[in-house]
Amino acid sequence: MKNALITVATINELRQKVSSARARKESIGLVPTMGALHEGHASLIRQAAEECRFVVVSIFVNPMQFRPGEDFERYPRMLEQDCELAARNGAALIFAPNVAEMYPAINPSLSPPTLTLPHQGGGKESAPVTTYVEVPGLSDSFEGKARPGHFRGVATVVLKLFNQAQPDRAYFGQKDAQQLAVVRKMVRDLNVPVEVVACPTVREADGLAMSSRNIYLSPEQRQHANALYRALMQAKERVQAGERDAVLLRATMAEILDETPGCQREYAELVNPSTFAVVERIEGEALAVVAARFGSTRLIDNTMLTSETSIV
Ligand code: AMP
Repeated sequence: MKNALITVATINELRQKVSSARARKESIGLVPTMGALHEGHASLIRQAAEECRFVVVSIFVNPMQFRPGEDFERYPRMLEQDCELAARNGAALIFAPNVAEMYPAINPSLSPPTLTLPHQGGGKESAPVTTYVEVPGLSDSFEGKARPGHFRGVATVVLKLFNQAQPDRAYFGQKDAQQLAVVRKMVRDLNVPVEVVACPTVREADGLAMSSRNIYLSPEQRQHANALYRALMQAKERVQAGERDAVLLRATMAEILDETPGCQREYAELVNPSTFAVVERIEGEALAVVAARFGSTRLIDNTMLTSETSIV
């Protein structure tokens, strides 16, 4: 039988609980999240619970990965509900720190609470007040281009969580494919002793990838929001039918997004899944990535395309 869920808010308590689990020879799994948990998160937690005896779910809306004007303040926060979902799916411990616990050096009066970092607006160089992690190259395209500084925030908080929880394995959704690539590269480059496990994207019945941000969509936007999925599936079908030209596949995806009411396409591309370099032809595996806005809500999605005949 599983023990009751433990909830902690400090790094010290987290470390104590993790070292007790280690003393009991339990393997440690970590599922980093920003909360507002849904079935996508639940699937990560379940996979972690299958493979690790002691599963830590972190819930932290990380200000460092938001830019001013993004949805840091209005990001949904529902800790009690999250704890129930996490416990039901096999979590042993919830780590829900506040901003001061994670970033003692942060300036809480700014919105989002901000760390002084170089290259962050204003064109004026300033000394960083904290150490941070930058994964160059990968962090500059697509999501990184749309949200400058985003992956610096992600890489920094993920490395902090790895150091705090010291998991054997950490679970990430394929839904955020570029984030996954950034984390994998950071782990490789910095020799972080953790196994990164990728989990498949969980979707609504109409194909829309589950996301905590889907609740921002109006009923009408929600009705059209599966355009991203439809675009990806159309590209997949064309690859199955033998198409290999990335220019044509890109155009197919763009057309579906562009003809969808209320959908403003940001990108529709075919990339190398590890480097996110744009590919010209589908040879072996390529990742189709799309991003679009519905009003102020930004949605992203992706699917793997393969030129092999057995596509699932
Ligand atoms: P977030 O709370 O949005 O930061 O997401 C936490 C983790 O859950 C990340 O690794 C995401 O990639 C993953 N995730 C989010 N949505 C889904 C989904 N629909 N299916 C699978 N994993 C997801």
